[in-house]
Amino acid sequence: MIKIDHLVKNYGANCAVDDISFEIARGEIVGFLGPNGAGKSTTMNILTGYLSSTAGRVTVDGINVLDDPLEVKRRIGYLPEQPPLYLDMTVEEYLIFVYNLKGCTFNRTKHLEEICEVVKIQDVYHRVIRNLSKGYRQRVGIAQALVGNPPVIIFDEPTVGLDPKQIIEIRNLIRTLGKDHTVILSTHILQEVQAVCDRILIINKGRIVADERTENINRAAEGTRRYEAMICGPQREVLNLLRNRPDIAFAEALPARDGDAYGYRIEAKPGMDMRKGLFRALAEKGWPLIGLEAMGMSLEDVFISIVDQASAPAAKAAKGDRRARPSGKQTEHDIARSILDATAEEQKKIAPYTGDED
Ligand code: ADP
Ligand code: MG
Repeated sequence: MIKIDHLVKNYGANCAVDDISFEIARGEIVGFLGPNGAGKSTTMNILTGYLSSTAGRVTVDGINVLDDPLEVKRRIGYLPEQPPLYLDMTVEEYLIFVYNLKGCTFNRTKHLEEICEVVKIQDVYHRVIRNLSKGYRQRVGIAQALVGNPPVIIFDEPTVGLDPKQIIEIRNLIRTLGKDHTVILSTHILQEVQAVCDRILIINKGRIVADERTENINRAAEGTRRYEAMICGPQREVLNLLRNRPDIAFAEALPARDGDAYGYRIEAKPGMDMRKGLFRALAEKGWPLIGLEAMGMSLEDVFISIVDQASAPAAKAAKGDRRARPSGKQTEHDIARSILDATAEEQKKIAPYTGDED
């Protein structure tokens, strides 16, 4: 449905999009994930024909954006980062305006009614947009994108600035739309793509650094490669033993303590079950293993390992030890971290839900 081929966009000397290529099949919900300034909005704006590219080729449904921008726009509903709302209009006036602008020829009343039902804005249909909450404004923005029944819908950071309840509602709405549309969701928040998308494209500094199906990420996150153990015995020596086991990739001490037992976090090497070997080795030493709990990997860990794997040899050096960094050059590992940091920041920023949506 969407094909981007060696796309480049320079703003003067600044290269915002640096030779990216990807394809999106009909019906996919794809997350476009990257830190702020990665080039997401620039790519979306080129894809939707709002911005010209420096080089490269973009086709939607086989139509080149440059050859026939109107036909491409007809196929795309776009919710830009700043929704293009006219605050002095009522929702009704605005949607009629959009309907006419797009040159639609459906039964207007019925078409707009259907859209309002999907995005749940019937209650505010006759209200002036200026007086609506941010959550409702965002829905009106989505309604605007749906006018004309475009097969492709593109959302640029659709939940920024919303409260937790509104975020969940908008994500549910996007997932519903994904059932019969091709959807691109651009965001800098990992949980958002994980909650909504089939596939995740990670962009950083204008380049695609990973392309992975969400189910693979989830499956890996459910895996049991990571454990928390309680082991009796001298902490430093136990830690030494753990770190020297051939099937253990990573071990660290935890603050947990229970008599002469200390807590440890242990990560097995991929594809290895380290439990039996560990039990025997500890028994030989006379250090009883009194607890072993599979933790699974956190979403963040999986994300980092996927970005690491997808990356060039530069990042391989960072793989063995989480703390190792080849000096100078930014690795894919650092990129993953910066997305995770942004995600954590975002979680902190989210305003507490006050209870009144409007
Ligand atoms: P994202 O949406 O991922 O946050 P953008 O596509 O908005 O990233 O920006 C990518 C890069 O291009 C950033 O470095 C940004 O400062 C730069 N940029 C974006 N728009 C313009 C513009 N109109 N003129 C100059 N530089 C721009
Ligand atoms: Mg942006």
